[in-house]
Amino acid sequence: MKESGKIVERCQICDSNRLYPFLSLGHQPPSDAFLEKEQQKKEETYYPLDVHFCEDCNLVQLGYVVNPKELFYEGYSYNTKTSGELVANFANLTANLIKRFNLTHDDLAVDIGSNDGTLLDGFLKSNVRILGIEPTGVARLALEKNIPTLKKFFNKELAGEIIQQYGPAKIITATNVFAHIDGIHGIVEGIEKLLTEDGVFISESHYLLDLIEKMEYDSIYHEHLRYYSLKPLIKLFEMHGMEVFDVERITTHGGSLRVYSCKMGAHPISDNVRKIIELEEKFGLYSRETFTKYRESVNKSREGLMKILNDIKNGGNRIIGIGAPAKGNTLLNYCHINNDILDYLAEKSDLKRGLFSPGMHIEVVDEKNLFEEPQPPYALVLAWNLKDIIIPKLKEKGFKGKFIIPVPTPHIVS
Ligand SMILES: [Zn+2]
Repeated sequence: MKESGKIVERCQICDSNRLYPFLSLGHQPPSDAFLEKEQQKKEETYYPLDVHFCEDCNLVQLGYVVNPKELFYEGYSYNTKTSGELVANFANLTANLIKRFNLTHDDLAVDIGSNDGTLLDGFLKSNVRILGIEPTGVARLALEKNIPTLKKFFNKELAGEIIQQYGPAKIITATNVFAHIDGIHGIVEGIEKLLTEDGVFISESHYLLDLIEKMEYDSIYHEHLRYYSLKPLIKLFEMHGMEVFDVERITTHGGSLRVYSCKMGAHPISDNVRKIIELEEKFGLYSRETFTKYRESVNKSREGLMKILNDIKNGGNRIIGIGAPAKGNTLLNYCHINNDILDYLAEKSDLKRGLFSPGMHIEVVDEKNLFEEPQPPYALVLAWNLKDIIIPKLKEKGFKGKFIIPVPTPHIVS
């Protein structure tokens, strides 16, 4: 039998066993494992989706790690370019980095989890040398655009190979992968090794404070092993001779934290670091009670959403889903929203079209189905973090139905 994962009994950063399991979203299949029509007949593998709080370093992490080969497989369907929000965020990030750190053609920028190369694109206008690291099949899209990409998982050994072949890196970025990779210490060792003496590592990860405050429990899925606040990250880097010297909150993925770190003493420490730590302390991110309360709020949020959906169905009305993001599947599986409730998932991009959602087996169809008369009167917005972009666009295209927003407090908007 293949090894499909492991139970995590210790904190991934500080190795403590004082873990407080505060939330269980049940057993779920990997959230990005959309199925071909034929695959639906086969049994899917379900893994526990439980979340723990470390009472020593305050890291929040999953209680079970799925084998990465089950998650980031060849046919992995996530493609950065399809998200306008991310493209804009990356353009902004690379422009800032070029200016702030005076990057030139002498410098190397490495992107870990480089996906289709969209982020690295931004460095090209300053002739910065670039290199992507992308283990999944999406690497092909980057290579087609002539973006140098190694189709591998990043680790210390690969860092050594990169130094030999390309030299050390002035900039290393990891956006929405730094919380995803198992064996985080090996990754940070590799980053420390690969950086130049004044090099900068920038990570962007979904921010725990936003996840708690805005009830973004659907952002919890097997790919996201850890849910970072700043304090445990500072500890992580310190364990490897590095330090955090700047930090900012950004809006991507419903609220993320952009963290700048470097070799100890290489850059002056911004006041932003102290400010964010104070904010976290005040919010209660280092206290167990916050997480107990969160569990209760998540339960209440699910009940509220199911009441809305059931009332609509009992009234004899159709509901469809908008978007087919990975997080939508956490929501659908946790709330058990199946094909009896949602007719289909309408998706603009064609990457997942014709596939069926993992667990609930709801078909992903072309967005244009929405506008066929009679239109469905209700649409559940699964990509709710983009609701301010999606809703006006759909209305403009002629959709007349109402929208159900699932979090934080489920509600209907016209
Ligand atoms: Zn810990």
